[in-house]
Amino acid sequence: MTIYNLGSINIDHVYRLANLPRSGETIHSRDLDHGLGGKGANQSVAAARAGARVVHLGAMGAADDWVLQRLVAAGVETDRIARLPDQVTGHAIILIDAEGENSIIVHGGANQDLSAETVRRDLTGIGPGDILMMQNETNLQAEAAAQASAAGATVIYSAAPFEIGALRKVLPHVSILAVNEGEAAETFAALGEDLPVQGLLITRGPEGAEYRDLTAGMVHRQPAFAVTALDTTGAGDCFAGWFAAGLARGEDVPTALRHAAAAAALQVTRHGAGDAMPDRAEVLEFLA
Ligand code: ATP
Repeated sequence: MTIYNLGSINIDHVYRLANLPRSGETIHSRDLDHGLGGKGANQSVAAARAGARVVHLGAMGAADDWVLQRLVAAGVETDRIARLPDQVTGHAIILIDAEGENSIIVHGGANQDLSAETVRRDLTGIGPGDILMMQNETNLQAEAAAQASAAGATVIYSAAPFEIGALRKVLPHVSILAVNEGEAAETFAALGEDLPVQGLLITRGPEGAEYRDLTAGMVHRQPAFAVTALDTTGAGDCFAGWFAAGLARGEDVPTALRHAAAAAALQVTRHGAGDAMPDRAEVLEFLA
């Protein structure tokens, strides 16, 4: 079973500061790191490290080959990533304060410039048992979701960054909606709790996560594992990628949730986003 991920690829520029700047304030950064990020790339790396076959669909600028090398090293299939000569690779300016809280600016670049024809071609072959993952950082989400669901695949959509217009458009084709606590509140405020999906995954940071199986009318709750968080950037992506990988390998929901929570607990103890995703051996050792 293959996970296709129509997802953003960003270069993260990470600045560590004593506190996040207020409007009009200038603050010196303690240091600067460059890493692999973007919700899409993060989820692809997480799912591949969890052991899934992951085909990433997306776009980058012509430069930045090291980004592709990182994805390949994590086990992600990259041959369907378009290189757009007239676009920059998406990037994010990430500010992290002494407590590990973050503020983020994202420039979409190539992530927002995918062609409909390419995406349609790259999804040819998706079918029952396969998963299409998406987040709200590329164009063509609704088109891809419609194609994948018509082909019988499971569509998992992370409504992040939250945008109600994008969610409304894609939702009719979504099987599982993944949101954090804030996104869940915004979703319920706009659409009510009776959503037209099979499942709803809600992550609540250190409070853990829950999966509402709306078809069966059941709720599975998964507490977070107690760790000292260093950098929570990408925790939600780690959770979503591991959860999808669990479903792709045929795990039941409680097992997939437990593995995802363990992976995310390990991930928040490390600096970085995509580069901080744990592999299967690390997660199994953590749970032993
Ligand atoms: P982000 O935007 O920071 O990438 P998010 O808001 O999408 O993350 P969260 O709900 O904060 O996602 O976290 C996802 C999961 O990661 C949680 O359900 C939990 O399992 C794990 N997690 C997050 N923070 C912690 C923490 N401090 N300790 C242990 N586990 C954590």
